[in-house]
Amino acid sequence: MVTLPFQGHINPMLRFAKRLVSKGLHVTLATTEVARQTFSNGQSTTMIDTNQNGVAQGPKIQLEFFSDDLDLDLDRNKHLDLMLQSLPLSGSKNLSNLITNLGSKGQTFSCIIHQIFVPWVADVAADRGIPCAMLCIQGSSLFSIYHRYNNEFETFPSFDNPNSALELPGLPLLEVKDLPTFILPSSPPHFKKLLSESIQSLEKVNWVLVNSFYELEADAVKSMALFKPVLPIGPLVPSPLIGKEEGVTDSLDMWNSDDSCLEWLDKKPPSSVVYLAFGSITVLAKKQIENIAMALRESKRPFLWVVKSLGKDGENKDGLPLEFLEETNGTGLVVSWCNQAKVLMHPALACFVSHCGWNSILEAVAAGVPVIAFPEWTDQPTNAKLVVDAFKTGVRMRTEEDRVVTKEEVVRCIFEVTEGPRAREIKERAAELKEAARKAVGDGGSSDRNVDYFISQFTEQPSQNTITSDK
Ligand code: UDP
Repeated sequence: MVTLPFQGHINPMLRFAKRLVSKGLHVTLATTEVARQTFSNGQSTTMIDTNQNGVAQGPKIQLEFFSDDLDLDLDRNKHLDLMLQSLPLSGSKNLSNLITNLGSKGQTFSCIIHQIFVPWVADVAADRGIPCAMLCIQGSSLFSIYHRYNNEFETFPSFDNPNSALELPGLPLLEVKDLPTFILPSSPPHFKKLLSESIQSLEKVNWVLVNSFYELEADAVKSMALFKPVLPIGPLVPSPLIGKEEGVTDSLDMWNSDDSCLEWLDKKPPSSVVYLAFGSITVLAKKQIENIAMALRESKRPFLWVVKSLGKDGENKDGLPLEFLEETNGTGLVVSWCNQAKVLMHPALACFVSHCGWNSILEAVAAGVPVIAFPEWTDQPTNAKLVVDAFKTGVRMRTEEDRVVTKEEVVRCIFEVTEGPRAREIKERAAELKEAARKAVGDGGSSDRNVDYFISQFTEQPSQNTITSDK
Protein backbone atom coordinates (compact mmCIF):
# COMPACT_ATOMS: atom_id res chain seq x y z
CA MET A 1 0.00 0.00 0.00
CA VAL A 2 1.23 3.49 -0.78
CA THR A 3 -0.16 6.73 0.61
CA LEU A 4 0.58 10.41 1.29
CA PRO A 5 1.91 11.03 4.81
CA PHE A 6 -1.18 12.75 6.28
CA GLN A 7 -3.13 11.36 9.20
CA GLY A 8 -6.44 11.45 7.29
CA HIS A 9 -4.84 9.41 4.48
CA ILE A 10 -2.70 6.97 6.47
CA ASN A 11 -5.47 5.95 8.88
CA PRO A 12 -7.96 4.57 6.35
CA MET A 13 -5.08 2.71 4.66
CA LEU A 14 -3.99 1.29 8.01
CA ARG A 15 -7.53 0.12 8.72
CA PHE A 16 -7.83 -1.51 5.32
CA ALA A 17 -4.46 -3.15 5.94
CA LYS A 18 -5.87 -4.61 9.15
CA ARG A 19 -8.88 -6.02 7.28
CA LEU A 20 -6.61 -7.65 4.70
CA VAL A 21 -4.42 -9.06 7.48
CA SER A 22 -7.51 -10.49 9.16
CA LYS A 23 -8.09 -12.36 5.85
CA GLY A 24 -4.60 -13.85 5.97
CA LEU A 25 -2.62 -11.39 3.83
CA HIS A 26 0.69 -9.72 4.61
CA VAL A 27 0.60 -5.96 4.04
CA THR A 28 3.46 -3.51 3.58
CA LEU A 29 2.33 0.09 4.03
CA ALA A 30 4.68 2.67 2.53
CA THR A 31 4.55 6.42 2.96
CA THR A 32 7.07 9.25 2.87
CA GLU A 33 9.88 9.77 5.39
CA VAL A 34 8.17 12.63 7.28
CA ALA A 35 5.71 10.17 8.80
CA ARG A 36 8.45 7.94 10.23
CA GLN A 37 8.87 9.75 13.54
CA THR A 38 5.12 9.85 14.12
CA PHE A 39 4.90 6.12 13.69
CA SER A 40 7.85 4.78 15.56
CA ASN A 41 10.65 5.71 17.94
CA GLY A 42 13.13 6.30 15.18
CA GLN A 43 13.32 2.65 14.08
CA SER A 44 13.79 2.31 10.37
CA THR A 45 10.98 -0.17 10.00
CA THR A 46 8.17 -0.74 12.45
CA MET A 47 6.36 -4.00 12.41
CA ILE A 48 2.87 -3.82 13.77
CA ASP A 49 1.46 -6.91 15.42
CA THR A 50 -2.20 -6.83 14.61
CA ASN A 51 -3.00 -9.98 16.52
CA GLN A 52 -6.22 -9.35 18.45
CA ASN A 53 -5.95 -12.05 21.13
CA GLY A 54 -2.66 -11.18 22.73
CA VAL A 55 -1.22 -14.45 21.40
CA ALA A 56 2.00 -13.88 19.48
CA GLN A 57 1.31 -14.62 15.83
CA GLY A 58 3.97 -12.45 14.32
CA PRO A 59 3.70 -9.13 12.62
CA LYS A 60 1.65 -8.77 9.50
CA ILE A 61 1.61 -5.04 8.73
CA GLN A 62 5.01 -3.75 7.83
CA LEU A 63 5.69 -0.03 7.62
CA GLU A 64 8.20 1.32 5.13
CA PHE A 65 9.24 4.86 4.27
CA PHE A 66 10.62 6.46 1.10
CA SER A 67 11.91 9.98 0.49
CA ASP A 68 10.11 12.75 -1.39
CA ASP A 69 13.54 14.40 -1.81
CA LEU A 70 12.41 17.50 0.17
CA ASP A 71 13.82 18.87 3.41
CA LEU A 72 12.40 16.87 6.32
CA ASP A 73 11.65 20.12 8.20
CA LEU A 74 9.40 21.47 5.45
CA ASP A 75 5.77 21.77 6.62
CA ARG A 76 4.03 19.71 3.96
CA ASN A 77 0.57 20.89 5.02
CA LYS A 78 1.61 24.44 4.17
CA HIS A 79 3.67 23.53 1.12
CA LEU A 80 1.54 20.79 -0.31
CA ASP A 81 2.20 22.10 -3.82
CA LEU A 82 5.95 21.48 -3.42
CA MET A 83 5.38 17.93 -2.25
CA LEU A 84 2.92 17.23 -5.06
CA GLN A 85 5.37 18.61 -7.59
CA SER A 86 8.26 16.56 -6.27
CA LEU A 87 6.56 13.23 -5.69
CA PRO A 88 5.85 11.97 -9.23
CA LEU A 89 9.60 11.92 -9.95
CA SER A 90 11.19 11.46 -6.53
CA GLY A 91 8.46 9.16 -5.24
CA SER A 92 8.52 6.93 -8.33
CA LYS A 93 12.30 6.58 -8.13
CA ASN A 94 12.47 6.05 -4.36
CA LEU A 95 9.45 3.76 -4.15
CA SER A 96 10.86 1.70 -6.98
CA ASN A 97 14.19 1.43 -5.11
CA LEU A 98 12.31 0.37 -1.98
CA ILE A 99 10.53 -2.40 -3.90
CA THR A 100 13.88 -3.54 -5.29
CA ASN A 101 15.48 -3.53 -1.83
CA LEU A 102 12.62 -5.49 -0.30
CA GLY A 103 12.79 -7.87 -3.25
CA SER A 104 16.46 -8.51 -2.55
CA LYS A 105 15.37 -9.67 0.92
CA GLY A 106 12.94 -12.12 -0.65
CA GLN A 107 9.79 -10.01 -0.40
CA THR A 108 7.61 -9.91 -3.52
CA PHE A 109 4.29 -8.22 -4.07
CA SER A 110 1.10 -9.64 -5.54
CA CYS A 111 -0.75 -6.32 -5.64
CA ILE A 112 -0.08 -2.61 -5.05
CA ILE A 113 -2.91 -0.55 -3.56
CA HIS A 114 -2.38 3.16 -3.84
CA GLN A 115 -4.35 5.99 -2.41
CA ILE A 116 -6.07 8.14 -5.06
CA PHE A 117 -3.75 11.13 -4.63
CA VAL A 118 -0.53 9.28 -5.51
CA PRO A 119 -1.48 8.32 -9.10
CA TRP A 120 2.17 7.94 -10.19
CA VAL A 121 2.24 4.70 -8.18
CA ALA A 122 0.16 3.07 -10.94
CA ASP A 123 3.15 3.62 -13.29
CA VAL A 124 5.55 2.02 -10.81
CA ALA A 125 3.19 -0.98 -10.57
CA ALA A 126 2.79 -1.18 -14.37
CA ASP A 127 6.59 -1.03 -14.89
CA ARG A 128 7.00 -4.00 -12.63
CA GLY A 129 3.99 -5.91 -13.89
CA ILE A 130 2.28 -5.87 -10.49
CA PRO A 131 -1.55 -5.67 -10.44
CA CYS A 132 -2.71 -2.33 -9.08
CA ALA A 133 -5.75 -1.04 -7.16
CA MET A 134 -6.64 2.55 -6.39
CA LEU A 135 -8.27 3.31 -3.05
CA CYS A 136 -10.42 6.43 -3.03
CA ILE A 137 -10.39 7.55 0.59
CA GLN A 138 -13.24 9.97 -0.02
CA GLY A 139 -16.13 7.70 -0.95
CA SER A 140 -18.12 6.84 -4.08
CA SER A 141 -19.88 10.16 -4.67
CA LEU A 142 -16.62 12.07 -4.68
CA PHE A 143 -15.00 9.54 -6.97
CA SER A 144 -17.94 9.83 -9.34
CA ILE A 145 -17.66 13.66 -9.38
CA TYR A 146 -13.90 13.56 -10.02
CA HIS A 147 -14.37 11.03 -12.78
CA ARG A 148 -17.06 13.07 -14.51
CA TYR A 149 -15.13 16.30 -14.03
CA ASN A 150 -12.33 14.80 -16.02
CA ASN A 151 -14.52 13.30 -18.72
CA GLU A 152 -17.47 15.71 -18.98
CA PHE A 153 -15.61 18.90 -18.14
CA GLU A 154 -17.90 21.21 -20.17
CA THR A 155 -20.89 20.61 -17.84
CA PHE A 156 -18.97 21.78 -14.76
CA PRO A 157 -18.77 25.40 -13.50
CA SER A 158 -16.21 27.47 -15.36
CA PHE A 159 -15.04 31.09 -15.24
CA ASP A 160 -17.65 31.84 -17.96
CA ASN A 161 -20.38 30.03 -16.15
CA PRO A 162 -19.32 29.99 -12.48
CA ASN A 163 -22.73 29.36 -10.90
CA SER A 164 -24.11 26.44 -12.87
CA ALA A 165 -25.70 23.70 -10.76
CA LEU A 166 -24.86 20.10 -11.64
CA GLU A 167 -27.22 17.22 -12.14
CA LEU A 168 -25.16 14.04 -12.03
CA PRO A 169 -26.50 10.47 -12.00
CA GLY A 170 -26.78 8.97 -8.51
CA LEU A 171 -26.20 12.27 -6.72
CA PRO A 172 -28.42 15.02 -5.34
CA LEU A 173 -28.51 18.26 -7.37
CA LEU A 174 -25.21 19.98 -6.64
CA GLU A 175 -24.99 23.74 -6.42
CA VAL A 176 -21.58 25.42 -6.50
CA LYS A 177 -21.51 25.56 -2.70
CA ASP A 178 -21.83 21.74 -2.65
CA LEU A 179 -18.96 20.95 -5.02
CA PRO A 180 -15.50 19.81 -3.98
CA THR A 181 -13.39 22.97 -4.08
CA PHE A 182 -10.61 21.28 -6.09
CA ILE A 183 -12.76 21.39 -9.21
CA LEU A 184 -13.92 25.01 -8.92
CA PRO A 185 -12.51 27.53 -11.42
CA SER A 186 -10.71 29.31 -8.56
CA SER A 187 -8.88 26.17 -7.37
CA PRO A 188 -5.05 26.23 -7.58
CA PRO A 189 -3.77 24.49 -10.73
CA HIS A 190 -1.75 21.87 -8.82
CA PHE A 191 -4.94 20.41 -7.29
CA LYS A 192 -6.65 20.24 -10.68
CA LYS A 193 -3.58 18.66 -12.19
CA LEU A 194 -3.49 16.04 -9.44
CA LEU A 195 -7.16 15.18 -9.96
CA SER A 196 -6.75 14.89 -13.65
CA GLU A 197 -3.66 12.67 -13.26
CA SER A 198 -5.53 10.51 -10.73
CA ILE A 199 -8.39 9.87 -13.12
CA GLN A 200 -6.12 9.38 -16.13
CA SER A 201 -4.09 6.81 -14.20
CA LEU A 202 -7.24 4.67 -13.95
CA GLU A 203 -6.28 3.13 -17.29
CA LYS A 204 -3.45 1.39 -15.48
CA VAL A 205 -5.52 0.44 -12.45
CA ASN A 206 -7.23 -2.95 -12.23
CA TRP A 207 -9.66 -2.14 -9.38
CA VAL A 208 -11.09 0.97 -7.74
CA LEU A 209 -11.84 0.58 -4.04
CA VAL A 210 -13.79 3.24 -2.14
CA ASN A 211 -13.89 4.02 1.56
CA SER A 212 -17.63 3.70 1.91
CA PHE A 213 -20.29 1.00 2.00
CA TYR A 214 -22.82 0.11 -0.66
CA GLU A 215 -25.89 0.88 1.45
CA LEU A 216 -24.61 4.40 2.20
CA GLU A 217 -24.02 5.48 -1.40
CA ALA A 218 -25.84 2.87 -3.48
CA ASP A 219 -26.95 5.28 -6.22
CA ALA A 220 -23.47 6.74 -6.66
CA VAL A 221 -21.96 3.24 -6.78
CA LYS A 222 -24.49 2.08 -9.37
CA SER A 223 -23.91 5.22 -11.46
CA MET A 224 -20.25 4.27 -11.93
CA ALA A 225 -20.91 0.69 -13.04
CA LEU A 226 -20.71 1.48 -16.77
CA PHE A 227 -17.64 3.72 -16.52
CA LYS A 228 -15.29 2.42 -13.87
CA PRO A 229 -16.97 0.07 -11.38
CA VAL A 230 -16.11 0.83 -7.77
CA LEU A 231 -15.91 -1.62 -4.89
CA PRO A 232 -17.00 -0.09 -1.57
CA ILE A 233 -14.93 -1.77 1.16
CA GLY A 234 -15.56 0.51 4.15
CA PRO A 235 -16.29 2.23 6.32
CA LEU A 236 -12.59 2.26 7.24
CA VAL A 237 -13.08 3.60 10.75
CA PRO A 238 -11.56 2.57 14.11
CA SER A 239 -12.64 -1.02 14.89
CA PRO A 240 -14.73 -0.31 18.03
CA LEU A 241 -17.00 1.94 15.97
CA ILE A 242 -18.08 -1.05 13.91
CA GLY A 243 -18.33 -3.44 16.82
CA LYS A 244 -14.94 -5.09 16.34
CA GLU A 245 -12.12 -5.45 18.84
CA GLU A 246 -9.52 -2.75 18.53
CA GLY A 247 -6.41 -4.95 18.68
CA VAL A 248 -3.17 -3.06 18.17
CA THR A 249 -2.75 0.12 16.16
CA ASP A 250 -5.98 1.14 14.57
CA SER A 251 -5.04 4.78 14.20
CA LEU A 252 -2.07 7.00 13.89
CA ASP A 253 -2.51 10.17 15.95
CA MET A 254 -0.46 13.28 15.19
CA TRP A 255 -1.29 14.63 18.65
CA ASN A 256 -1.74 13.09 22.09
CA SER A 257 -5.39 12.77 22.95
CA ASP A 258 -6.75 14.06 26.22
CA ASP A 259 -8.66 11.07 27.63
CA SER A 260 -9.90 13.03 30.65
CA CYS A 261 -12.74 14.17 28.41
CA LEU A 262 -14.14 10.62 28.48
CA GLU A 263 -14.46 10.73 32.27
CA TRP A 264 -16.00 14.17 31.90
CA LEU A 265 -18.52 12.73 29.42
CA ASP A 266 -19.33 9.91 31.88
CA LYS A 267 -20.85 12.52 34.20
CA LYS A 268 -23.16 14.01 31.59
CA PRO A 269 -26.75 12.85 30.93
CA PRO A 270 -27.40 10.66 27.86
CA SER A 271 -27.75 12.49 24.52
CA SER A 272 -26.93 15.86 26.06
CA VAL A 273 -23.45 16.93 24.85
CA VAL A 274 -22.64 18.92 21.70
CA TYR A 275 -19.26 17.74 20.34
CA LEU A 276 -17.32 20.16 18.11
CA ALA A 277 -14.20 19.19 16.16
CA PHE A 278 -12.83 20.31 12.81
CA GLY A 279 -10.29 17.68 11.89
CA SER A 280 -6.52 17.80 11.72
CA ILE A 281 -6.00 20.69 9.26
CA THR A 282 -8.80 23.28 9.53
CA VAL A 283 -8.11 26.27 11.78
CA LEU A 284 -11.11 28.53 12.40
CA ALA A 285 -10.95 32.31 12.05
CA LYS A 286 -10.97 34.28 15.32
CA LYS A 287 -14.41 35.76 14.58
CA GLN A 288 -15.79 32.28 13.91
CA ILE A 289 -14.44 30.96 17.19
CA GLU A 290 -16.06 33.87 19.02
CA ASN A 291 -19.44 33.29 17.35
CA ILE A 292 -19.38 29.59 18.22
CA ALA A 293 -18.35 30.40 21.78
CA MET A 294 -21.25 32.85 22.18
CA ALA A 295 -23.67 30.30 20.73
CA LEU A 296 -22.52 27.57 23.10
CA ARG A 297 -22.90 29.91 26.06
CA GLU A 298 -26.41 30.79 24.91
CA SER A 299 -27.57 27.26 24.10
CA LYS A 300 -26.75 26.18 27.68
CA ARG A 301 -26.05 22.60 26.63
CA PRO A 302 -22.95 20.75 27.78
CA PHE A 303 -20.28 20.81 25.07
CA LEU A 304 -16.92 19.25 24.28
CA TRP A 305 -14.87 21.36 21.87
CA VAL A 306 -11.58 20.43 20.23
CA VAL A 307 -9.51 23.58 19.66
CA LYS A 308 -6.19 22.38 18.27
CA SER A 309 -4.23 25.52 18.98
CA LEU A 310 -5.05 25.40 22.69
CA GLY A 311 -1.69 25.03 24.47
CA LYS A 312 -0.84 21.81 26.31
CA ASP A 313 -1.14 23.69 29.62
CA GLY A 314 -4.63 24.83 28.65
CA GLU A 315 -3.34 28.28 27.78
CA ASN A 316 -5.49 29.88 25.13
CA LYS A 317 -3.47 30.59 22.01
CA ASP A 318 -6.04 31.24 19.34
CA GLY A 319 -8.73 33.72 20.17
CA LEU A 320 -10.92 31.62 22.44
CA PRO A 321 -12.26 34.34 24.80
CA LEU A 322 -10.77 33.75 28.25
CA GLU A 323 -13.95 34.77 30.06
CA PHE A 324 -15.77 32.13 27.97
CA LEU A 325 -13.57 29.39 29.41
CA GLU A 326 -14.22 30.65 32.94
CA GLU A 327 -17.96 31.16 32.48
CA THR A 328 -18.57 27.77 30.89
CA ASN A 329 -16.28 25.82 33.21
CA GLY A 330 -18.32 22.77 34.24
CA THR A 331 -20.84 23.03 31.40
CA GLY A 332 -18.23 22.81 28.72
CA LEU A 333 -14.81 21.33 28.18
CA VAL A 334 -12.22 22.52 25.65
CA VAL A 335 -9.39 20.12 24.72
CA SER A 336 -6.63 20.33 22.16
CA TRP A 337 -7.18 16.78 20.79
CA CYS A 338 -9.28 13.77 21.81
CA ASN A 339 -9.91 10.19 20.82
CA GLN A 340 -12.74 11.06 18.48
CA ALA A 341 -13.94 7.50 17.95
CA LYS A 342 -14.39 6.99 21.70
CA VAL A 343 -16.05 10.38 22.08
CA LEU A 344 -18.51 9.67 19.25
CA MET A 345 -19.43 6.31 20.77
CA HIS A 346 -20.14 7.85 24.16
CA PRO A 347 -23.85 7.73 25.12
CA ALA A 348 -23.67 11.32 26.43
CA LEU A 349 -23.27 12.71 22.88
CA ALA A 350 -26.20 14.54 21.31
CA CYS A 351 -24.63 15.77 18.07
CA PHE A 352 -21.37 16.48 16.26
CA VAL A 353 -20.51 19.90 14.82
CA SER A 354 -18.07 18.83 12.10
CA HIS A 355 -16.02 20.29 9.26
CA CYS A 356 -17.17 17.20 7.32
CA GLY A 357 -13.83 15.56 6.56
CA TRP A 358 -14.79 12.15 5.15
CA ASN A 359 -13.18 10.27 8.06
CA SER A 360 -15.20 12.30 10.56
CA ILE A 361 -18.40 11.78 8.57
CA LEU A 362 -17.90 8.01 8.34
CA GLU A 363 -17.10 7.90 12.07
CA ALA A 364 -20.32 9.83 12.83
CA VAL A 365 -22.27 7.44 10.57
CA ALA A 366 -20.75 4.38 12.27
CA ALA A 367 -21.47 5.85 15.71
CA GLY A 368 -25.04 6.85 14.78
CA VAL A 369 -24.48 10.49 15.76
CA PRO A 370 -26.38 13.38 14.06
CA VAL A 371 -24.16 15.96 12.38
CA ILE A 372 -24.18 19.74 12.15
CA ALA A 373 -22.20 20.36 8.99
CA PHE A 374 -19.74 23.22 8.80
CA PRO A 375 -17.67 22.47 5.68
CA GLU A 376 -14.75 24.54 4.52
CA TRP A 377 -12.92 23.13 1.49
CA THR A 378 -11.84 20.05 -0.57
CA ASP A 379 -14.49 17.31 -0.37
CA GLN A 380 -16.14 18.78 2.74
CA PRO A 381 -18.91 20.80 0.98
CA THR A 382 -20.01 17.68 -0.93
CA ASN A 383 -19.88 15.55 2.21
CA ALA A 384 -22.07 18.17 3.94
CA LYS A 385 -24.57 17.96 1.07
CA LEU A 386 -24.63 14.16 1.37
CA VAL A 387 -25.19 14.33 5.14
CA VAL A 388 -28.21 16.60 4.72
CA ASP A 389 -29.83 15.41 1.46
CA ALA A 390 -28.69 11.82 0.92
CA PHE A 391 -27.95 10.33 4.36
CA LYS A 392 -30.46 12.66 6.04
CA THR A 393 -28.52 12.51 9.29
CA GLY A 394 -27.96 16.21 9.91
CA VAL A 395 -28.28 19.88 9.05
CA ARG A 396 -25.91 22.38 7.47
CA MET A 397 -24.91 25.72 8.94
CA ARG A 398 -25.55 28.67 6.62
CA THR A 399 -22.61 31.02 6.22
CA GLU A 400 -22.78 34.78 5.66
CA GLU A 401 -21.08 36.57 2.76
CA ASP A 402 -17.76 36.63 4.62
CA ARG A 403 -18.07 32.80 5.00
CA VAL A 404 -18.53 33.16 8.75
CA VAL A 405 -21.45 31.52 10.59
CA THR A 406 -23.34 33.75 13.00
CA LYS A 407 -24.04 32.95 16.64
CA GLU A 408 -27.77 32.73 15.85
CA GLU A 409 -27.18 30.17 13.09
CA VAL A 410 -25.13 27.93 15.40
CA VAL A 411 -27.88 28.13 18.04
CA ARG A 412 -30.51 27.34 15.40
CA CYS A 413 -28.66 24.26 14.15
CA ILE A 414 -28.04 22.88 17.63
CA PHE A 415 -31.75 23.29 18.38
CA GLU A 416 -32.76 21.69 15.08
CA VAL A 417 -30.83 18.43 15.57
CA THR A 418 -31.45 18.09 19.32
CA GLU A 419 -35.01 19.34 19.95
CA GLY A 420 -36.48 20.70 16.71
CA PRO A 421 -39.38 19.10 14.78
CA ARG A 422 -36.98 16.95 12.68
CA ALA A 423 -34.66 15.95 15.54
CA ARG A 424 -36.27 12.57 16.11
CA GLU A 425 -36.30 11.64 12.43
CA ILE A 426 -32.61 12.60 12.09
CA LYS A 427 -31.67 10.53 15.14
CA GLU A 428 -33.59 7.49 13.86
CA ARG A 429 -31.94 7.75 10.45
CA ALA A 430 -28.51 8.01 12.11
CA ALA A 431 -29.30 4.86 14.11
CA GLU A 432 -30.35 3.03 10.91
CA LEU A 433 -27.09 3.88 9.14
CA LYS A 434 -25.06 2.82 12.19
CA GLU A 435 -26.67 -0.60 11.94
CA ALA A 436 -26.11 -0.74 8.18
CA ALA A 437 -22.42 0.13 8.59
CA ARG A 438 -21.89 -2.73 11.04
CA LYS A 439 -23.71 -5.17 8.77
CA ALA A 440 -21.64 -4.08 5.75
CA VAL A 441 -18.32 -4.94 7.39
CA GLY A 442 -19.62 -7.97 9.30
CA ASP A 443 -19.20 -11.50 7.95
CA GLY A 444 -20.97 -11.76 4.59
CA GLY A 445 -21.89 -8.05 4.55
CA SER A 446 -21.56 -6.01 1.34
CA SER A 447 -18.09 -4.59 2.11
CA ASP A 448 -16.86 -7.90 3.49
CA ARG A 449 -17.90 -9.64 0.26
CA ASN A 450 -16.21 -6.96 -1.82
CA VAL A 451 -12.97 -7.41 0.13
CA ASP A 452 -13.14 -11.19 -0.48
CA TYR A 453 -13.81 -10.62 -4.16
CA PHE A 454 -10.90 -8.20 -4.43
CA ILE A 455 -8.50 -10.60 -2.70
CA SER A 456 -9.62 -13.47 -4.91
CA GLN A 457 -8.63 -11.43 -7.97
CA PHE A 458 -4.91 -11.42 -7.24
CA THR A 459 -4.45 -14.45 -5.00
CA GLU A 460 -5.36 -18.08 -5.24
CA GLN A 461 -8.06 -17.59 -2.59
CA PRO A 462 -11.47 -18.60 -3.97
CA SER A 463 -14.43 -16.27 -3.57
CA GLN A 464 -18.08 -17.20 -3.92
CA ASN A 465 -18.90 -13.55 -3.84
CA THR A 466 -20.05 -11.30 -6.59
CA ILE A 467 -19.04 -7.70 -6.53
CA THR A 468 -21.39 -5.38 -4.72
CA SER A 469 -21.24 -2.45 -7.06
CA ASP A 470 -23.92 -3.06 -9.63
CA LYS A 471 -26.55 -5.16 -7.90
N1 UDP B 1 -9.62 13.36 15.20
C1 UDP B 1 -9.26 12.89 16.43
N2 UDP B 1 -9.32 13.74 17.49
C2 UDP B 1 -9.72 15.03 17.39
C3 UDP B 1 -10.10 15.50 16.11
C4 UDP B 1 -10.05 14.63 15.03
O1 UDP B 1 -8.92 11.72 16.60
O2 UDP B 1 -9.73 15.73 18.41
C5 UDP B 1 -9.53 12.44 14.05
C6 UDP B 1 -10.88 12.03 13.54
O3 UDP B 1 -11.34 10.91 14.30
C7 UDP B 1 -10.63 11.71 12.09
C8 UDP B 1 -9.42 12.56 11.73
O4 UDP B 1 -8.91 13.09 12.95
O5 UDP B 1 -10.31 10.35 11.92
C9 UDP B 1 -9.76 13.74 10.84
O6 UDP B 1 -9.95 13.26 9.55
P1 UDP B 1 -11.03 13.95 8.61
O7 UDP B 1 -11.01 13.23 7.31
O8 UDP B 1 -12.34 14.05 9.27
O9 UDP B 1 -10.51 15.44 8.46
P2 UDP B 1 -9.09 16.07 8.04
O10 UDP B 1 -8.26 16.06 9.25
O11 UDP B 1 -8.53 15.22 6.93
O12 UDP B 1 -9.47 17.46 7.63
